[in-house]
Parts: sequence; C-alpha cells; structure tokens
Amino acid sequence: MTKRIFRAIALVALVVFLASLVLIMGVLYNYFSNVQLEQLRIETNLAAQGVASDGEAYLDSLDIKGYRITWIDSDGSVIYDSRINSEGMENHLEREEVREAITNGYGESTRYSSTLMQKSVYSAQRLDDGTIIRVSDEHSSMLNLLFSMIQPILLVALVTLVLALVLASRVSKRVVAPLNNLDLDNPLENENVDEVAPLLRRINSQQLQLKIQEIELNKKKEEFETVIQSMTEGLVLLGREGRIISINNAARKIFDAGEFLTGKSILEVCRNIELQKLTQAALKGESVEKILEISEKEYQVDASPTYYDNEISGAAVLIFDVTEKQQAEQMRREFTANVSHELKTPLHSISGCAELLCNDMVKKEDVKQFTGQIYTEAQRMMRLVNDIIYLSQLDEGAVNMQRGSVDIYKLAAETAESLKPEAERMDVTVTLTGDSAVISGISQLLASIVYNLCDNAIKYNRKGGRVAIDVRNINEPNECYAVLTVSDTGIGISPEHQKRIFERFYRVDKSHSKEVGGTGLGLSIVKHAAKLHNAEIDLVSKVDEGTTIKVKFPRGE
Ligand code: ADP
Repeated sequence: MTKRIFRAIALVALVVFLASLVLIMGVLYNYFSNVQLEQLRIETNLAAQGVASDGEAYLDSLDIKGYRITWIDSDGSVIYDSRINSEGMENHLEREEVREAITNGYGESTRYSSTLMQKSVYSAQRLDDGTIIRVSDEHSSMLNLLFSMIQPILLVALVTLVLALVLASRVSKRVVAPLNNLDLDNPLENENVDEVAPLLRRINSQQLQLKIQEIELNKKKEEFETVIQSMTEGLVLLGREGRIISINNAARKIFDAGEFLTGKSILEVCRNIELQKLTQAALKGESVEKILEISEKEYQVDASPTYYDNEISGAAVLIFDVTEKQQAEQMRREFTANVSHELKTPLHSISGCAELLCNDMVKKEDVKQFTGQIYTEAQRMMRLVNDIIYLSQLDEGAVNMQRGSVDIYKLAAETAESLKPEAERMDVTVTLTGDSAVISGISQLLASIVYNLCDNAIKYNRKGGRVAIDVRNINEPNECYAVLTVSDTGIGISPEHQKRIFERFYRVDKSHSKEVGGTGLGLSIVKHAAKLHNAEIDLVSKVDEGTTIKVKFPRGE
C-alpha cells in the first residue's frame, strides 16, 4: 500500500517538477535569446555605421571582447575578421545570414556546434558599398543550460522523492488505519467508513452465504453419519491414499477396533491381507467382492472405487455378515448328504430282501423274517421321511401351524400313556408329577418336544430304569414359566457329545440309535420347536447315571 502511494506521489511530483522545469526554462531561454539577438542587431548596426564612415580603421580601433566581427566583400571574400587572419578564410557568400543580407539588406542565422552544447548567432548588415558587416556571438544552447543546472535539478528531484516517501507513508497509514480497525465479523456495524461501505456490504452478504452453506454442509454430514451409523452392514470410506475417512459402528465392531480410526490405513485396523488386497484393487478402479473370514466369522466384502470429477477419489468398502448364510448353506449341504445316506441303507435292505423273495431264493420258513425286515425298514424310512418333513416345516417357521393354549401337563400325560407299551418292553418305569401348566403355543410342536424327550429317556435307558416327567409353573419376578423336566436313569451322555446331540443326524452311538429306532433328528426337532416358543433348553447328563433335560417355556401372561 505504502509503496503504491509513494510511487504515485513520486511520479506526479516528478512529472510536475519536470514539466515546470521545461516550461520555465523554455520561456526564459526564449526571452534571453531574443534579448541577445536584439543586442546583436544593434551592435551590427553600430559596427556597420562605423565601418561606413571610417573603414577598416574603425574596426582596428575597437576593443572587441566576446563578439566576433567579420567584414565581407560583396563577392563573399573576407576583408576583415576580428579573430582569424582574413587571408586564409573561405568564401562567405554561401552563409545564410550573408545571403539574406545581400538580398534584404539584413540577415540572421543560428548554428549549433558539433556537440550541440554551444550555438553561434550571426547578424549581418549590407553597407551602401555592397560589403557586409557580420557580428557573431556564442550562446549556451538549451542542453548546455540544462547540464549546467543538473546539480540543483537532481537535488530538487531527490528532495521530491524524500518528500513523496514521507507523504506516502503518512497517507497510507492514515488510509489503512480505519481499514485495520474494521470489525469484519460484523461488517455492517462499522461506522464512518462510507468509502468502503460497498465492500463491507459484500463481505457481509458473502459471510451470510458461507454460514448458510456451512449449516447445510453440517446438516448433510449429520444425515450421512446417522445413515451410516445406523446401518447393520459395516461401511468404510477410504481416501485416495487408502486412509480411513469414515467408518461406521458396525465396521468398528466387525474389526473389533476402538475409536479414532480416521486417518489410519485399513491394515492398521484389520490385519487381513485379503481385505488389504481388495481395497487396493478398488483404489485402482476395480469393483471387487469376496467372502473373507474376520474374527472367526464369515463376511462378504464389496469394495468399489469412488469418483470425484471423473478421477478416483478413494474407495467404499461394504461388509455384510454372511456367517449364518454360509452356515445354513453348509448345513443344507450336509443335510442333503445325510438324508441320502440315511435313506440309502433301509432302501438297500428293502431292495435286497425283495429281490431274494422275488427270485424264490428264500426258504419258506424264512419268508416271515424277510417280510418283517422289509416292514421294519419301511417303517424306519417313514419315520425318517416324517421327521424330515417336520423339520422342513420348522425351518419355514411353522407358518401353517395353529397357535393356541396348550397344557403341557396334559400333553405329558398323553405322551406317557402312548409310550407305555414301549416303556414296558424296555422295563422302564415312567412317572409323571406336577400341575397343569398352560402356555400359548403350537400344540403339535409342543407334543413333539414332550414325545421326543420322553422317547429318548426310555430308549437310552437300561432295564429296570426310571423316567420321571415333571411339569410345573415357576413364577419369577420378571417372567412366568412352564417348566418341563424329563429325567432318566439311563446311559447318560458324555460332555463332548452333549454339545452336538441337537445337530441333525448326530448320534452318540449310531448302531444303538438304529437298534432302538432312532433317526438322529429327534433332538433337532426339539431344539427348533423350543426356539419357535422362545423356550430355553437345559441339559445335565452323566455317563452311566442318567440325563435330565429341562425345557423352560415363557408363559407370556
Ligand atoms: P435319535 O433318533 O438317534 O434318538 P435324537 O436327536 O433324538 O436322535 O438324539 C440324538 C442322540 O443323542 C441319540 O442318538 C443319543 O445318542 C443321544 N441321546 C438323546 N437323548 C438321550 C438320553 N436321554 N440319554 C442318553 N443319550 C441320549
């Protein structure tokens, strides 16, 4: 600011100074030149008069200083010259002033020296006899004058510059002072600043616009944060360098990572090389997806590049938990293999027996045994198919089954009654204790829970063993339950099998299970049916001592 003002002031001052200098010097120089010329004219006239009356003697009598007098003959030859011997001098006829004097009686001319520093002024007058008197004087030229005054000119210029500097600094300070004191946070509240009022109004309107934009940006950011934080899928946004810009809570949980992850690389958050490879591919512009195992769970990871102005600005990584889906698929595969395997054995047996019978290869007395075998295997297959159909209905969520009030105690009494023949065959005593316990549920499913538990308790018992069925209501402060307990004094289940007996087709002793007519699906049905009633199953078992299975149904009153 100071510099600009200084430059402007200095320039103006110098221009004014030089203009005045040129003007004044021009006027003065012109005036004095005219005065000198007039004097020269008078002197020429006087010399002419003197020469006309006294001839050369007049010239000799003169004490000439400064001037130069030349007497030229009418043919141009020099008769007399006050400075140089006239004899060797060239013809002067061609000199401008001489020619003019011959023609008009009087002539003048000015000639500059070779350096232009001096100028010679000539004045010539014709005498009556035709000769010419010429008087010349040497004056300083304008340039010479200027050079002779260079010191004072430079001094004045210097003073001008110094004054301009001082003035500029003062002016700029005075101009800038009110600007420095402006309250730019509240531009319209500044007083006495009319000159910058339009600027302040503009600043004010831009500040308002900025505030509105900031509010909108914050709103959008909050909306975005709310959306991504409420997502159940993990979402990570990476910048161009692969560093985290944003990560939602679901992703944080998946990676088991803490707070403050912004700015970290994905590898610092999750030490999974495959995930790193996926993000790198996305940052190169590829859209990739893969199933990855992170913290013992299966996740589908989709990584795609993000763009800004048609250039890759980073990557978005979306993470879905597909553990259950994968497990379900695995289970389905195993289930199909198991079903085929389970069906193959009785079918082989039936087909083998039937073939022998068809080909009359069975002795008459053995026919009964073979047909009996076919019947038993067919029964087994039917039980198996029934159980499979039942399980698939449970997998579908038992949608077609009716809910209603069911008394577990009544179901237990009916089951105990229906299993009486089997219990007698196995020499097992079944007792039922407890009270009526009514819950809301699907009677068919509840019946299969009671049946499968009691059936197992009889099947996996020993001769002379006991099965105790107990049904009772338990009221806890927050919830009321109907609890079914089936305990036996049977073979028991070792701890390593206890975790797995609820899996489909899992049997501790396959041949024993088959012997007693098991399908390996009973407890899976119990588990599913219990789940559909929000019931909890509790198993306590000791090998050779017996097993107690407790099912706790919430009554939901
Ligand atoms: P299964 O049709 O073979 O009985 P389940 O699913 O009902 O199939 O039971 C799975 C396995 O759990 C059985 O094969 C058996 O080995 C074991 N098991 C179930 N209940 C008992 C019990 N009360 N006592 C001992 N073992 C049991």
